[in-house]
Amino acid sequence: MNNESNVPLLNVGNIEVVYNKIILATRSISLQVYKNEIISILGANGAGKTTTLKACSNLLSAERGLITKGRIELDGESTLKMTPDALVNKGVVQVLEGRHCFSNLTVEENLQTGAFVHKTKSRAEIKQDMERVFDYFPRIGLRKKSVASVLSGGEQQMVAIGRALMAKPRLILLDEPSMGLAPQLVEELFEIIKNLNENENISFLIAEQNVMVALSCSHRGYTIENGRVVMQGTSEELKKNDMQHMYLGTSGEKEGQRFRDVKYYHRRRPSVF
Ligand code: ATP
Repeated sequence: MNNESNVPLLNVGNIEVVYNKIILATRSISLQVYKNEIISILGANGAGKTTTLKACSNLLSAERGLITKGRIELDGESTLKMTPDALVNKGVVQVLEGRHCFSNLTVEENLQTGAFVHKTKSRAEIKQDMERVFDYFPRIGLRKKSVASVLSGGEQQMVAIGRALMAKPRLILLDEPSMGLAPQLVEELFEIIKNLNENENISFLIAEQNVMVALSCSHRGYTIENGRVVMQGTSEELKKNDMQHMYLGTSGEKEGQRFRDVKYYHRRRPSVF
């Protein structure tokens, strides 16, 4: 983690998001991601995690969502008028919830689609980047000629992250990567995320309901509830707070109570493809 520069890579300031001109999804979310950080956004269903990520990658308009207040900056420059493509070109890539893959394309073809954003890339460069993805995700390297529809959920998640890697990102926004995966695979996936952060200097903003897994991987975190940040701190601080609740009952902090509530959520079923 490197916070030497005071300018965050991503700076979200008091954003308010409204869907369909009427549904208030986030009221005032502020968060920062510094270079080389892994940041968790924690919260129960409907808290506003996905909305926050989509606001950062300018994907809200497809769902009739609009940022009505606040600011989002990348390296100090406002992103509010940038297209999603322009953001990808600047190194901000989102992996949507539900590990979206092109089901009829092979693993290799899925990865190639991630490289299209860099139009000048040669075939050799694309091949080299793909090999780099397979180094991190050997499981999908073994299935490179298989169509995505026959892969397991965990393998599809790896393809989705691999595709994001092909765009040479500086910041990956990951929406619920653990959803629907077996615990062992979740552990494996988060270990790879840590390796990518350490070896490739990629920052991550991860929306997760699996609190302990997310905090074991991230440097800092934000807990959101009803579209507001109710707690923030280092992952150690957030974990400690959670432990105090489990073993001592209460820390006397109102926000802590909320954090415990967040931890014992009911998980949703994963999307079906
Ligand atoms: P989940 O884990 O269930 O995805 P979340 O924390 O990601 O929850 P969001 O999906 O961001 O929460 O939803 C925040 C609020 O915005 C919720 O009240 C939700 O119903 C609403 N919302 C989300 N997407 C839309 C949409 N496309 N149209 C209208 N309302 C929406």
